[in-house]
Amino acid sequence: MSSRIDTYLTSSSQTYSPPSHPRTLCCSQTSKFFCPSCYNPHSPVPDFELPFKVDVILHDDSKTATGVHLKVLNPNNVNLINYEKHEKHEKHEKHEIPDYDKSTTVILFPDFGTENPSVDISTLKGIPEKLIVIDCKWTKTGASRDEGFKGIKRVHLSSDSPTQSRYWRWHTEGTGMLCTLEAVYAAAFTCSSIERRDGLVNMFYFFGLQRAAMEGGKGGGDGNSGKKGKGYKRGVLESEIDGRVLKPWEEEYKRRMGEERKQEGGERQKQQKEESRKKKFKIKQDNEEQQEGKKSEDNVVIN
Ligand SMILES: [Zn+2]
Repeated sequence: MSSRIDTYLTSSSQTYSPPSHPRTLCCSQTSKFFCPSCYNPHSPVPDFELPFKVDVILHDDSKTATGVHLKVLNPNNVNLINYEKHEKHEKHEKHEIPDYDKSTTVILFPDFGTENPSVDISTLKGIPEKLIVIDCKWTKTGASRDEGFKGIKRVHLSSDSPTQSRYWRWHTEGTGMLCTLEAVYAAAFTCSSIERRDGLVNMFYFFGLQRAAMEGGKGGGDGNSGKKGKGYKRGVLESEIDGRVLKPWEEEYKRRMGEERKQEGGERQKQQKEESRKKKFKIKQDNEEQQEGKKSEDNVVIN
């Protein structure tokens, strides 16, 4: 499963060149590969057949979510549900989670607790009609506890799924944390017939291009990802560079990142100084007030 993805990503990086993917205007914004508003691709995309329908619950900035790639590539079978938006605008109302058929829907959410443990997706009897996946930052799983998902069977990926993410965004959770796209691929691979498995790797079409744009392209990704992202830079600095010689642009980012950190450090120092100054002032004031109090007490005694 893993080597298929790697081969595919390598071929994406050979296909990609900045002039062949110029920024295109759609919905009054430009983007490189697809429109982040109407989800139309800017050039023909390869197809693949998903074994189930997928609902992606977006709990993150949708522009950076890999679940969006799925929607662009397979619009008829993929549904995006913007959870974050509901949370913001309808604070006290129930989120608009569809009324799922619990007998045919599963949610990809590993849970090895005792209350509602997830089951290995390869052990399911039959193939689910719908897979729900929560596309969120690694640390934000609030959506998974939503009432709307109550009673839906939880599944986790089978043990032969890849554990090393190829996603370039920085995170601290270590191995075993896949991005949404990688997780759906692994789930779909498990549930697909052998004939359909080969085509599934096309799910990585935009993933591969974005990755290639970021690594080799002059302008970085399509604004959603790429060299400009702080997380990515940290990734470059702290994990991806282990044991190899830095590419020139990585050197450049390392230098800039160092400067940024220095600046941030400077800002912090300034703030700390300001706080301690305020504190000192407060103490002085308190002392003065005490003195005043004493004086007035003295006065009382005298008079
Ligand atoms: Zn558009």
